[in-house]
Amino acid sequence: MKYLIVLVVVVLGIWLWRSNRRADANERSASAPPPPSPPLLEIVACPVCGVHLPARDAVSGSRALYCSTDHQRQAEH
Ligand SMILES: [Zn+2]
Repeated sequence: MKYLIVLVVVVLGIWLWRSNRRADANERSASAPPPPSPPLLEIVACPVCGVHLPARDAVSGSRALYCSTDHQRQAEH
């Protein structure tokens, strides 16, 4: 009977230890910084026609970013 009580205490202790560890892990993941967001897509407006487009798709002129080479030529020549 004495051994049974010891066994129950040991099992209870292991169970408590394990649940504490799980709570710690949950806390750690909750306080972890959020994953880095993708770089913000920069939108530029063509100064000729005013159309908005992503900067990486724009045609870069010497003065501004344009929607097409036509508008770049139109604005700068
Ligand atoms: Zn344009």
